[in-house]
Amino acid sequence: MEAARTWTVLELLRWTTEHFRSRGIEGARLDAECLLAHALDTERLQLYLDFDQPVAAPERARFRELVKRRAEGRVPVALLTGRREFWSLPLRVTPDVLVPRPETETLVEVALRLLPDRESAARILDLGTGCGAIALALAKERPRACITATDVSEAALAVARENAEELGFEGRIRFLLGDGFEPVQGERFDLIASNPPYLSRREAPALPPELVHEPREALFAGAEGTELLRRIACGARDILGAGGALAVEVAPEQAHEVTEWLLAAGFARPECHVDLAGRVRVVSAQRGGGGGAENAEAEAGWIPPERGQGNGQPG
Ligand code: SAH
Repeated sequence: MEAARTWTVLELLRWTTEHFRSRGIEGARLDAECLLAHALDTERLQLYLDFDQPVAAPERARFRELVKRRAEGRVPVALLTGRREFWSLPLRVTPDVLVPRPETETLVEVALRLLPDRESAARILDLGTGCGAIALALAKERPRACITATDVSEAALAVARENAEELGFEGRIRFLLGDGFEPVQGERFDLIASNPPYLSRREAPALPPELVHEPREALFAGAEGTELLRRIACGARDILGAGGALAVEVAPEQAHEVTEWLLAAGFARPECHVDLAGRVRVVSAQRGGGGGAENAEAEAGWIPPERGQGNGQPG
């Protein structure tokens, strides 16, 4: 990419795609397009209309810098552009949050199936919200739901809040800082939808180099990767109202263990759901309510709060 010659959009894309491929970057062409569109301050699809246009030196310099950080620094494209689309929502992402993954859309689909009524006024908890992806997708699809989003990272919550504001959902989602269920102790929800960290420390050396750019607490959860999943599976029943449900994202090999924990904790109807790549990615289960003697006993002593009154403390 020497300065002397002119480069068209198409030439730059071809050169960069080859360069990325030679560095072992998957999705080389798509990455090249996203970065060039960003450098030119345009949409990716516009590039196709401008294939023959020359790219001016200042934009080329900007692009060169992005290409270098992608190829050498292994910075994910979303962190270079600061944007990532999730559930057709344009989200802002920073190094303080996990870049939302396509497989998490499977979790959103499962959550929506658990709340089939679009007008549902359900109380939803997104534990470990990161940039707010799950909470925002659910806010979009269930306009009457009361959504709570938590995270241990104050910096992540700041990004999530900003996304909520930008998308006009700021009044819809309550953001709480804290560890696990601690910020919502004593409250009751109808649905928990969570994508917690689930990588094990043991896996770290074999992971793609891109992951060093994302927060460790967004990725890793103890020696087995299941530290937070176990806490969620074992503690969820206490904060779900009768008939409440839970959907959590897991690594495929964790699904069986998480299902066992949920059954041991008194959940019913566990189900595993596959993502678009055909890998088990989500486990869901129902708390049950009414019906069995066990459930009747579990519900005793808890009176559902009137909507809009109090904070859902057991009555
Ligand atoms: N839900 C987002 C982010 C997932 S990454 C998405 O799907 O894209 C997991 C998130 O859980 C991170 O933001 C991390 O800060 C948060 N987290 C990690 N440990 C936690 C804990 N003990 N309690 C609450 N949140 C936690």
